[in-house]
Amino acid sequence: MADGIIDPAENRKTTWTEACVDTECFMLGLKKRNTGQKLFHQAVREFIESVMPFVQQNPQYQKAQILERMTEPDRIVIFRVTWEDDAGNVRVNRAWRVQFNNSIGPYKGGLRFHPNVNLGELKFLGFEQTFKNSLTGLPMGGAKGGANFNPKGKSDREVMRFCQSLMIELHRHIGEDTDIPAGDIGVGAREISYLFGQYKRLQNRFVGVLTGKGLAFGGSLVRTEATGYGCVYFCENMLNHSGDSIKGKTCAVSGSGNVAIYAAEKAHELGGKVITLSDSAGFIHDPAGIDAEKLAFIKDLKEVRRGRIAEYEEKYKEANFYAGQRPWGVPCDVAFPCATQNELNVDEAKTLIGNGVKAVSEGANMPTELAGVHAFLDARVLFGPAKAANAGGVAVSGLEQSQNAVRMSWGRDEVDSRLKTIMREIHDKCVSNGDADGYTNYVRGANLAGFKKVADAMLAYGVV
Ligand code: NAP
Repeated sequence: MADGIIDPAENRKTTWTEACVDTECFMLGLKKRNTGQKLFHQAVREFIESVMPFVQQNPQYQKAQILERMTEPDRIVIFRVTWEDDAGNVRVNRAWRVQFNNSIGPYKGGLRFHPNVNLGELKFLGFEQTFKNSLTGLPMGGAKGGANFNPKGKSDREVMRFCQSLMIELHRHIGEDTDIPAGDIGVGAREISYLFGQYKRLQNRFVGVLTGKGLAFGGSLVRTEATGYGCVYFCENMLNHSGDSIKGKTCAVSGSGNVAIYAAEKAHELGGKVITLSDSAGFIHDPAGIDAEKLAFIKDLKEVRRGRIAEYEEKYKEANFYAGQRPWGVPCDVAFPCATQNELNVDEAKTLIGNGVKAVSEGANMPTELAGVHAFLDARVLFGPAKAANAGGVAVSGLEQSQNAVRMSWGRDEVDSRLKTIMREIHDKCVSNGDADGYTNYVRGANLAGFKKVADAMLAYGVV
C-alpha cells in the first residue's frame, strides 16, 4: 500500500506521509477500532485537537506513529468477580484493569465501582491518567480499573467480600513497581483498606501497592483532601495569573463525594463563598454559604452515614434542594464540577458564561462536554481541564509511594506544601504551552505538556 492511502479494512493510514495526519482522519480510524466507546472517543478527540498541530510540525512523532501507539492500551485485564451477599446469594460482577501506558513510570490510576462502569469508560480514564500523571512531574504511568459493582446499599461485610474476591485476581497484575491502584468513584478509604488487607495476605508482603491507605498502615497525610484542595489551588493559580483571586468569589461546586467536599473546604478557607453541592439525585443551593460547620455536617452525612445531599435542606432551612437538577443555573464567579463525566453540557456552559463565570476548574474527570469546553475557551473563561486541575490527587498518591518506599511519613505541612508546588508547576507548564494573544488556553497547554514527556520517552524506546 502506498504512503498516505487509507486501508479500507482498517480505516486508517497504514504508512506515513505528511498529508496523512489530521484530526478527522485519525478519529475515523480510532472510532472504527474502538466501536461504541463514546467516552474514549471524546477524551481522545479533546487531546488530539490540541496535539495534532504540534505533531504535524514535528515529523519524528508521525513517523513513529506515536499517536496510534498512545491511543492503544498496553494491555487490558478482564475478569469475573464472584462473591456472596448477606442473604447467601451468589453474585457475579465484571472487573477490568486497563494498563494504558508505562513509558514514564509504573502504571498508576484509580479503581471505580459503579453499576455503569464499562470498558470504554475505563479506557477514557486510563488515557487521561497517562497525561495527567506526566504533568505532575512524578515518574508515574497511566492506568484505570474498576468493576460494575454498586457499593450503594451494600453492607460493610458485602463490600469486604467483594473487595477480597476482586483482589484474588487483581493481585497477580499489580505491584509497587508494576501498577499501583487507588480510589475513585465508589472506592474510598473503606474499600482501599479491604483491598490492601487482602493483597498483603495473598502476597505476604507489606508494600505500597495501593494509595489512599489509612494513616495507620502507610497512608499519607493530605491524600484524602488532595484532589479537591489541588483543584482549588489550580484555580487560585489561574486567577492569580490574571491578577485576581478566589477571595470574595461565589463558588458553585457539584458532587458531594471526596473531591467535592475538599474542593468546597479549600475554596471556603481561601475566602470563597461556596453555595452549591450535589449528588445524582439533585443539588442544594445555600445562598448563605457553606461554612466549616456545615461542611462538618456534610462530611458526617456522606463519609460516615453514607446519606443523601437532600438531607442538607432538612438541617439548614436557608437552603433549598432541587431534585433532578444540576447546579449550573445558579449565578457564580467560579465553577468546580467535581461529580462525574459529562455533567456540564454546552447549554449549561453558556448559562454560566452569561452569568459572568470567571473560572472553571474541573475536579471530576471530563465533567464538561466537548462543546462546553469550546464555549468556555471561545468566551476566554479561565478553564482548568481535569488532567491539570485534578492532578493533585495522583500527585499526593505519588508522594505516598515515595514515603512507603523509604518507610517514612511526612508531616501535613510538608505534604501540603509539596502539593501546592506541584499544582503551581502544572499551572506554569500549561501557561508555557498554552499562552497566545493574552489568553491561556489551559486545555492546549495541559495536553501538549503532558504529551511531550510521554512521547519523548516512547521515541527513546524505539519501536515497542
Ligand atoms: P465519590 O467520592 O464516589 O463521589 C462521587 C460524587 O459524584 C457523588 O456525590 C456522586 O453522587 C456524584 N455522582 C456520581 N455519578 C453521578 C452522576 N451520574 N450524576 C450526578 N452525580 C454523580 O467520587 P470522587 O472520588 O469524589 O470522584 C469524583 C470525580 O473526581 C470522578 O470523576 C473521579 O474520576 C474524579 N477524580 C477523583 C480523584 C480522587 O482522588 N478521588 C482524583 C482525580 C479525579 P451519588 O452518591 O448520588 O452517586
